[in-house]
Amino acid sequence: MPVSGSKSAFSKYYTQIVKECDEAVGWDCVESFDKKGQTMTVLLKDESERIHHIYVNFAQDTFTSTIDTDQVPLSTGLFRYMEQQKKHCYQMSDTWDILDDLDATLCVLQPVHPKRSDLSRRIAISHMATALFEVSPERYYPKLVVYGPAGFVGPLNLRAKELKNIWVTPSGGNGGGGRSVRDNLELVLSMELPRKEEGFDGSDIMLECGICLSFEVEDEAADQVCTNDSCARPFHRQCLIQWLTTKEDTRQSYNTFFGKCPYCSGVSYKYSILLCRNNIASPFV
Ligand SMILES: [Zn+2]
Ligand SMILES: [Zn+2]
Repeated sequence: MPVSGSKSAFSKYYTQIVKECDEAVGWDCVESFDKKGQTMTVLLKDESERIHHIYVNFAQDTFTSTIDTDQVPLSTGLFRYMEQQKKHCYQMSDTWDILDDLDATLCVLQPVHPKRSDLSRRIAISHMATALFEVSPERYYPKLVVYGPAGFVGPLNLRAKELKNIWVTPSGGNGGGGRSVRDNLELVLSMELPRKEEGFDGSDIMLECGICLSFEVEDEAADQVCTNDSCARPFHRQCLIQWLTTKEDTRQSYNTFFGKCPYCSGVSYKYSILLCRNNIASPFV
């Protein structure tokens, strides 16, 4: 319980929230309360025994949490905010089961420190290819897109489209036996995936754009991959277009550029990039 007289000068909701801790929430779940009464951290355990944190910021008059990305005004009340967060946990439970299963067994490259609000994972599927796995509470089937050398990932992306015919959630549902995310993906892709417990960390996989050397630019991953399997360097679409337009031997036909990869230009492979957003470059032979 906070020391009396430590009332914050910042928030008119301080007294109300302390009273809620006394009467409804209970001090057992209050993990910390800073001495000046400006911040407070409350633990919330959901129905699946996952522990979440709720942050009360009296200085900014906001609630935030590790559950979602919203900032909510303190006028909502702590008890009511916690009930809203519990409801959100209930809605997200199956989705988090899938992501927890994936994080525990597969080699996740991005995000490096996933938050509960992160619903996609970039996973290593081999030493030269990655897959973007995205799950949503609104959709029963996750999305899966494989990135890597075109000759390798082309057939895999065709198989990834069949995911909806194979996918079974880890919990199974309706009393049925579930299937782990790894087993699902191995069935879909017809390949054995690198396992986290075998020490594979994916550190030799190239993820950064070969031009700007960063992973994401304006939320866009470096997903344009050189079609030469011995190079397989990834680039951002925009970086590659900028590069190709500076080269004299680049040819443009309608909305497609044809040019050489910035890395393996000595190899007689050419590289095309479509200007339309969301289109993946196709090899030009
Ligand atoms: Zn780039
Ligand atoms: Zn290349």
